[in-house]
Amino acid sequence: MVKPVPLVRVEGPSRERGRAYGRLAGDRIQKSLDIYMPAFAERAGLEWPQVKGLARQFAAKMADFDPDIVVEMEAIAQGAEQEFEAIVALNSRTELLFWAGKRSSESNADGCTSVACLEEATRDGHLLMGQNWDWLPPCRDSVIVLAMKPDIGPAILTLVEAGIVCRIGLNGAGLGVVGNFLQSDQDIGREGIPIAIIRRRILTRERLSLALGDVLRTPRAFSSNHVLAQTPGEAIDLETSPDDAFPLFPEQGILVHSNHFRSLVAQAKLKDTGVIQFPDSLYRDHRVRSALAPKRGSITVTDLQEALRDHYGVPESVCRHVPEKVEKGTICTVASVVMDVTAGKLWAAPGPVCENDYSQYTLE
Ligand SMILES: [Zn+2]
Repeated sequence: MVKPVPLVRVEGPSRERGRAYGRLAGDRIQKSLDIYMPAFAERAGLEWPQVKGLARQFAAKMADFDPDIVVEMEAIAQGAEQEFEAIVALNSRTELLFWAGKRSSESNADGCTSVACLEEATRDGHLLMGQNWDWLPPCRDSVIVLAMKPDIGPAILTLVEAGIVCRIGLNGAGLGVVGNFLQSDQDIGREGIPIAIIRRRILTRERLSLALGDVLRTPRAFSSNHVLAQTPGEAIDLETSPDDAFPLFPEQGILVHSNHFRSLVAQAKLKDTGVIQFPDSLYRDHRVRSALAPKRGSITVTDLQEALRDHYGVPESVCRHVPEKVEKGTICTVASVVMDVTAGKLWAAPGPVCENDYSQYTLE
């Protein structure tokens, strides 16, 4: 069994909490950079000076979108004694890894299976969400849980790769977000707001309508799936590409998504290039849905954890394992998260989820 995912707790205005984040997570931020600096070169053909140039372009866009997040990233860089561009590059890593239409089967992407269960489907009437995050095996050692109490807005609890401002999480206003890699023929390397920055904006919001508006209105550089939910009682999935957004809704209180576009409008309008990389996506969402559907009305945190340990199709299963013959770009479940959004609690387990226990983290 490996050690629990470390918790980093920060508070205060953006500069103060950014510095604390950088200082407290400095070792793991270095691990993130050790993973991505060579990956940008190998996968996207981007040497470090080019990465820095693109990071500055992304930072300029981010400054227009949210000047505060740029201040926070500057402070993370100071606290971790890293270059500002390095922190921006981490927060733009999906966009950079697939820059300029690098979409070969060699440049595998993060797979994921995510789930939301509305109050009507759960035993205690709480909103539950969860996700297995499948990505490069070394990322297991760069992941942290970040608990943040900003001077303005709700408190935030999020599982991230160290140095990144948001991935999977919940906030003190009863709003949660999980999400999945998607890829389409619209992902050709363009400027826009990176996914991590959009996710963070979602968790600064007190109302679902504002968070949905953030996803819909923000210029996007890359396709992504965002599952947004707020207690009491609503969850909406937005399958997004740079040009479009396609909504999906829970079926009898349960919503599950993996790595292919499910909206029929999306399937007609764009070419899904992600499902070619992840054919197993076509059954992963079904596996989790069919594990939970018979328990509708009595679903618990433990049920979500068990559903995320499913091994159908192993190693390309919901609990994703490294195949015996390791190939370049091999991915596995590096972390699993289940959240009780109503109670402000998050449970995280390092992968493989079937071999490790979940640890509990709280918002306050
Ligand atoms: Zn397993």
